[in-house]
Formats: sequence, structure tokens, C-alpha cells
Amino acid sequence: MTAFPKSADVFVIGGGPAGLAAAVAARLKGFDVMVADVARPPIDKACGEGLMPDSFGVMRMLGVRLDAEQSFPFRGIRFCGAGVSVAATFPEGQAVGMRRTRLHEVLMNRAREAGVSMLWGTRVHGVSGDTVSLDGTAFRPRWIIGADGQNSRVRQWAGLDAARHESARYGFRRHYAVAPWTDYIEVHWGSGCQMYVTPISSQEVCVALLSRDSHLRLESALPQFPELAFKLRSAPATTPERGSMTVSRRLRRVFRGRTILIGDASGSVDAITGEGLSLSFHQALALADSLVDGNLEVYQSAHQRLMRRPAFMAGLMLSLDRFPWLRPAVLRAMASEPAIFAKLVAVHVGSASPAPAVS
Ligand SMILES: Cc1cc2nc3c(=O)[nH]c(=O)nc-3n(C[C@H](O)[C@H](O)[C@H](O)COP(=O)(O)OP(=O)(O)OC[C@H]3O[C@@H](n4cnc5c(N)ncnc54)[C@H](O)[C@@H]3O)c2cc1C
Repeated sequence: MTAFPKSADVFVIGGGPAGLAAAVAARLKGFDVMVADVARPPIDKACGEGLMPDSFGVMRMLGVRLDAEQSFPFRGIRFCGAGVSVAATFPEGQAVGMRRTRLHEVLMNRAREAGVSMLWGTRVHGVSGDTVSLDGTAFRPRWIIGADGQNSRVRQWAGLDAARHESARYGFRRHYAVAPWTDYIEVHWGSGCQMYVTPISSQEVCVALLSRDSHLRLESALPQFPELAFKLRSAPATTPERGSMTVSRRLRRVFRGRTILIGDASGSVDAITGEGLSLSFHQALALADSLVDGNLEVYQSAHQRLMRRPAFMAGLMLSLDRFPWLRPAVLRAMASEPAIFAKLVAVHVGSASPAPAVS
């Protein structure tokens, strides 16, 4: 192996949304940044493909601009189940649905424009002390960022696996060629599973299934949701079904020495929240700030604070999954008092604090 401890101040392992956001944020602070990803762009992943309104302020700060033609705006969230439905608009701004591959391209272009060096198709084999080992080479950067997703090896290598909380579900997504019938993201609550529909263009929706059953697939779950099945009845599927675990995980620590975790590698909230991307972007800004000060305890605290609201909302939403007897009563109560649901949506996107939502 040839060691070339070259110029990168910051080496990012994983060029998904979190890694690219972290790279751009660090680059904007003047660091030389290198990103390595084993996959080649544009990278796809099972995702509900919704970007919540709280993503946009931070994306603007990163200089990321979304192309109106390749994304689709939606203005709120609708819950459907137990024979009722309830909807609320976001108090401020709107969300967008966007193909994951397109989002990856946008982030990658922004990273290139900012001057980030990127190595695609390059696996990182290990991190030992301050050395990153790649195929045939080694790097010795000042900071190592682990953005290698849910099953992070960097987390293991750095001894950061200890979790305060961990549980997992299964997620599958597929795209259907049909004009969106609503400008809300729809969450359909069934028995032991949820399906959510994100409009991603004027001609296509993304449908994601979430459950604790590893064998359940979109086609077999669909009959539980006759209204949705009816809307999709003659819509051709445009992509194969793609699956992934969705993990609720909170780590005790997100850095050790000079190795720092971000995105799903650093802990995650259940996909039902649609908050994973926004969370990663916020973490990226917080991390860049603490790299400037060289004080990672600041990032550790910011990370904990950023996780709090999505984790609270995930817990609340997943109680409707865990306690099936509760679900119909809660859905009907919210349908008859839509103001309660509106407050929950406001809390969900960070426009209100949890206290008034439950008062
Ligand atoms: C079913 C489902 C639906 C979801 N829906 C939404 C939604 O609607 N909205 C939302 O905001 N979030 C959603 N999420 C969550 C969101 O997808 C994640 O939070 C987000 O992908 C995290 O990005 P990341 O960059 O941390 O990880 P990833 O996107 O997993 O990227 C990690 C990268 O690391 C690379 N890598 C791994 N190991 C190595 C190695 N050894 N060397 C080099 N590279 C490596 C991988 O190739 C990959 O590109 C959903 C998740 C699931 C499972």
C-alpha cells in the first residue's frame, strides 16, 4: 500500500446526501475536502423521497438549488385510516418530492462546484487511528467523517456503536406513472404497516411501505388500502421495488478522536417522519462549525438537540403502529379536531414546540 497523506483536511467516507452535505459545509469553511463512495453516481436508495420544509433554509445555506422541473411541491400532510382522513398544511413554506437519484445529482454538482474532490467506486476498507485505508492507498487527513449510512463500518471501527436506543423496521418503495391526485403527502395507516405516497413530478408518485414484517411487499400490502389501490389500479410501475431497513437509533457518542459520524451513520429516526435528509443537512452545518473551532463537543451537543424533535415525533407516530387499538380512536379524534393535527404537523416541521401541540 502506498501511503500518501495528501492535502485533504477532511476525508468523508460515504457520498450519500449526508456525506455530500458535510463535504460542502466543510468546503465552505475553507477546508480541503475529499469524499469517497463505493458506489457510482447517481446513487439510488429506498426512500420516500420527500424533503420537508425545514430542509430548505439549510440547503440554501449550503448553496443547493433545486430544479423546479425535477421536483414537485406539496403543501402538507394527510393521514388516512379507520375510514377517516385528516389533512393540515405546513405553517410555513412547502415541501417537495424528488427522485432520489436526481437529489444525488444536485448535491454532487454542488459539491463539485464548491471544489470538493470526489472518488466514486472507491471502497474505504478501514480507519485506524488517523489513517483511512482505500483500495491501494492510505490517507491521513485532519478529520475523518463517517457518512457511510445505516450499517456504518466507520461507526464500528471508531468504537461508536454503543446505542441508547435501537429498533428497526423494513421499508420498500416503488414509483408509479400517475398524475398526483393531491398536493399533500399521504400516510395511509393499515394493520401493522403504513404506506405513504409522495408526489414527485406531474406524472409520477413514489409509494413507500413501512412495516415490521420482512416478508411484506407493496403488492401484497396494497389490498389493505382499497382507496390507494384504486388510484394506482391502472398506473404502471416505473421502477422495481427497492428495500432497506429503517432504523430508529440514538448513539451515546457521535465522535471519537478525529473520527466523526453524520447522517444515518450517526443515528436515525424512523422513515415515517420523512426527516432523515433534513436532519443530515442540519448536522452538516453544525459539524462544519465545530471543525472550525476544533471542538467536537459542540457538534455532539448540537447533534443531540437536532435529533430530539424528529425522535419525539417518530415515537408519537409509531405509537399508532405499536398500539393498533389506539389507532382508530386517535385518527377519528384528529379528523374531528383538525386543529390538533395541524399543531402536530407544525411541531413535526419545527414551526412549533411540542408543548402547545398537546395542550
Ligand atoms: C424506506 C425509506 C424511506 C425514507 N423516506 C424518507 C423521506 O421521505 N424523506 C427523508 O428525508 N428521509 C427518508 N428516509 C431516510 C433517508 O433516506 C436517510 O436518512 C438518508 O438516506 C441518509 O443519508 P446518508 O447519506 O446518511 O446515508 P446513505 O444515503 O445510506 O449513504 C451512505 C453512502 O455510504 C456509502 N458507503 C457505505 N460504506 C462505504 C465504504 N466502506 N466505503 C465507501 N463508501 C461507503 C454508500 O455507498 C452510500 O452511498 C427514508 C429511509 C427509508 C429506508
